[in-house]
Amino acid sequence: MTTGPDAPGAFSLEPGPDLREMRDWVHGFATDVIRPAGAEWDEREETPWPILDEAAKIGLYSLDFFSAQWLEPSGLGIPIAFEELFWGDAGIALSLVGSTLAAVAVASNGTPEQIGEWLPEMFGGPGDVKLGAFCASEPEAGSDVGAIRTRAEYREASDEWILNGTKSWATNGGIADVHVVVASVDSSLGARGQASFVVPPGTPGLSQGQKFRKHGVRASHTAEVVLDGVRVPGRCLVGGRERLDARLARVRSGGPSGEQAAMKTFEASRPSVAAMAVGVGRAAVEFARDYATQRITFGRPIGQNQAVGFMLADMQAAVDAARLLTWRAAWMARQGLALDGAEGSMSKLVASETAVRVTEQAIQILGGNGYTRDFPVERWHRDAKIFTIFEGTSEIQRMIIGRAVTGLDVR
Ligand SMILES: Cc1cc2nc3c(=O)[nH]c(=O)nc-3n(C[C@H](O)[C@H](O)[C@H](O)COP(=O)(O)OP(=O)(O)OC[C@H]3O[C@@H](n4cnc5c(N)ncnc54)[C@H](O)[C@@H]3O)c2cc1C
Repeated sequence: MTTGPDAPGAFSLEPGPDLREMRDWVHGFATDVIRPAGAEWDEREETPWPILDEAAKIGLYSLDFFSAQWLEPSGLGIPIAFEELFWGDAGIALSLVGSTLAAVAVASNGTPEQIGEWLPEMFGGPGDVKLGAFCASEPEAGSDVGAIRTRAEYREASDEWILNGTKSWATNGGIADVHVVVASVDSSLGARGQASFVVPPGTPGLSQGQKFRKHGVRASHTAEVVLDGVRVPGRCLVGGRERLDARLARVRSGGPSGEQAAMKTFEASRPSVAAMAVGVGRAAVEFARDYATQRITFGRPIGQNQAVGFMLADMQAAVDAARLLTWRAAWMARQGLALDGAEGSMSKLVASETAVRVTEQAIQILGGNGYTRDFPVERWHRDAKIFTIFEGTSEIQRMIIGRAVTGLDVR
């Protein structure tokens, strides 16, 4: 009998039993712990440490959990987990998954020794929760990563790298145990002359700059990170010296730079951001649907008015479409298929724009109530906006998709 993808009827969008069990378990935590705390931590604008600790106690905030989902064979582990967490509350969920950015940076390019040493330091355990921060963006370098000014200089005698510069917008920046910092080692090469460095806990010279007061995802800490003569040992260069030297030699002789490999990594990680947006969008559709069946005006539920019923129809269809794009890209990435059609970017673009639109429509359906802080949809609308900005803005996603569609150098 033929098995595998060529077997008759083999295509399936139904997650297997392990995924369903994981989804229900995460959903339970999102329902019981995250959702009820969303408004409070949004007002406090602080990292919700007690919730991180509770999640650590049940093994949800842990390296084991996240790595099991990254390695899940269908590719749907992370999209499903993130959708549930962000369905609960985006700010708290971003605090729960913020360390994974730094973890992925080391896991995808680091040596086995670096992965073994630093990833556990980014999560800790119950009673001793730890954080990681990934610091690439700078005041003058967000979309334009080639403009990074932070410098790393090597001192042969002491086998140390000296880092100087200011990072902006770092999730968990300054409060993390481990910071992964992108710096230029040869400024004449732009983005091709950059490398990542692990800054271990308590390293002198690294400090938090301003903490940003944000529009949404306020339970997630975002801050500047100042690097003033930060010294890290040679073994903190992610990937190691030999690999960096070989790459720089290739670039200087006009060969491939590895930039394409980095772009492939980004393309494969975009569905995880898309899944966050799907979670927020789904929360808004469900909330607005329930409200529309209960709120009576002119003697009948408002959902019975075509204007409202059609709005809910569009919202539901858009969120389902966004999820399908997300699952397609995540599945393709996990199967090792090339995302040459910019499938990752498509999922991120569509899911993030959908989340903004449906949360706005949810406010409209709730009327005056929707505009108050007594109902969560105004917060979800503020939260949703981040998905069109971080990890590549919508304009940058369109540029990537445009290039894939036309084969032209769309700018
Ligand atoms: C809450 C939050 C958390 C973040 N977390 C992190 C983190 O953990 N680590 C990290 O490194 N960074 C992080 N960032 C930074 C984020 O990735 C950047 O803000 C984002 O990439 C956009 O960069 P920018 O702010 O410099 O905007 P800019 O690059 O200045 O863009 C401004 C506008 O110009 C448009 N634009 C720019 N270039 C082009 C172009 N070529 N074509 C068309 N339009 C263009 C953009 O789409 C955007 O609309 C975070 C940001 C926020 C707000």
